[in-house]
Amino acid sequence: MCKKSYLLLIVVLLTTFFLNFSAYSQLANRYEIRIPTVPGYVLLKCDLHTHTVFSDGLVWPTIRIQEAWHEGLDVIALSDHIEYLPFKDDIKVDYHRPFQIASPVAAALNITLIQAAEITRSEPPGHLNAIFLKDVNSLNTPDYNDALKAAFDQGAFIFWNHPGWKQPNNKSVWYDTQEEFLKKGWLHGIEVVNGNTYDPIAHQWCIEKNLTLLGNSDIHNPIGMDYELQNRKHRPMTLVLAENSSIESIKAALFARRTVIYLENNLIGDAKYLKPIFDNSIQIKYPEIEIKGKNRNVIQIQNNSDLDYELVPNGQTDEVSVEKVVLFAGKTSLLHLKGVSDTAIGEKNIQLPFTVQNLWIAPEKGLPVEINVKIKFVPTK
Ligand SMILES: [Zn+2]
Ligand SMILES: [Zn+2]
Repeated sequence: MCKKSYLLLIVVLLTTFFLNFSAYSQLANRYEIRIPTVPGYVLLKCDLHTHTVFSDGLVWPTIRIQEAWHEGLDVIALSDHIEYLPFKDDIKVDYHRPFQIASPVAAALNITLIQAAEITRSEPPGHLNAIFLKDVNSLNTPDYNDALKAAFDQGAFIFWNHPGWKQPNNKSVWYDTQEEFLKKGWLHGIEVVNGNTYDPIAHQWCIEKNLTLLGNSDIHNPIGMDYELQNRKHRPMTLVLAENSSIESIKAALFARRTVIYLENNLIGDAKYLKPIFDNSIQIKYPEIEIKGKNRNVIQIQNNSDLDYELVPNGQTDEVSVEKVVLFAGKTSLLHLKGVSDTAIGEKNIQLPFTVQNLWIAPEKGLPVEINVKIKFVPTK
C-alpha cells in the first residue's frame, strides 16, 4: 500500500471510530467492574470467544472492541469460525482481517486484542478455540488433527468450547478424541460457561484433569441484544490473574490455570483464588461488639465489590448463633448474632463459619469462609 492510501485508511478508521462514539453515546462511557484482585496479580476481565461478520457474527470487528471497552473488559479475542462462513459471498474470506481491522481501535482504547479462531468440526471433537495465533490459515486443514497440531506448534492456548452442545440431553461427553488431545498436550482448558450456560460436568473435568476454567460469551449479536447492560447485567467473563497486563503474562496465567469465571452473580474457580477475592471485597466496619447473655447484636459488613455475597452459616460456634445474610454489592449489611449462654463472660476472638453460596469451588459446592469478630460477653445471670 502506498503512503498516501495508508494515511487515507488511518483517517477513515479514526473517523469511523470517533463517529461511532458520538453516534452511540452509550458506548462513550465505561462501566468499571469492581472485583478485587488476588495479591500478587492483576485481575483482567477477558472474553476469549466472540464472533464478527467475518464468520456468523452480526457486528463489525471494531464494534466488538467498543462493546468490550464499554462493558469494562480488558481483553478480548475475536474467534471467528474457520470452517463456518455463511457470509462468505458478501464478506471476503480472510482469517486475519478481523484482528487487523480491530487492532487500531483496541490500541486506542487500551483493550488487549488476541488473535484467535474457532476450529469448528462435528462432534467429536466439536468446537475448539485456539488463541494467541500467529498464522490462522495453517488451521484450515481437512483433518482436525492437523488443525490442532498447527495451533499447538504456534504455542497457542487451546480450549474446548461448549462441550455439552449437540450432546444427548445437552450433557457433555468425554470422547476418546479429547483423551488423545489431552495426552498430546493439545487441550489446555474447557468452557465451563458459554453464554449464560454453566456446565457442571465440564467444571468437574477441569478439577480432575487440571485444565483451565473458561467462561466466555460466544457472542454473535450486538452485545446489548443479549445482555441488559443498563440494568447491570453483564456477559460471562474469564477473570485472568496475570503478573501484569502484557499478552505474555495473560498467556502464562491461562496455562497456569489462574482463572476465575464471572457468571451473573457467581464466581467459579479454585478456593485459593475465590477466598482472597471475597476477603478483599469485604470490610467489617466495627468488629468489636458486646453481647449480653442470650441477647442479639449486629455486625456491620461493607461489601466493596459488584457481587451480592450470599452467606449461610456453616455450623455454629459455642458462643453465638448466626443467621444467613446477603452482603449486597456496594452496601453495608447487618449480620445478626445471638448469645447462647446467660453466663458467658469476657472478650473472645471468634471466627464465624459461613459458606458463600454464589462462589463455586466445585459443582454445588460453595466457598467456606470465616468472619472474624471480637465479642465482649456480659453475663445476665
Ligand atoms: Zn462453537
Ligand atoms: Zn463460537
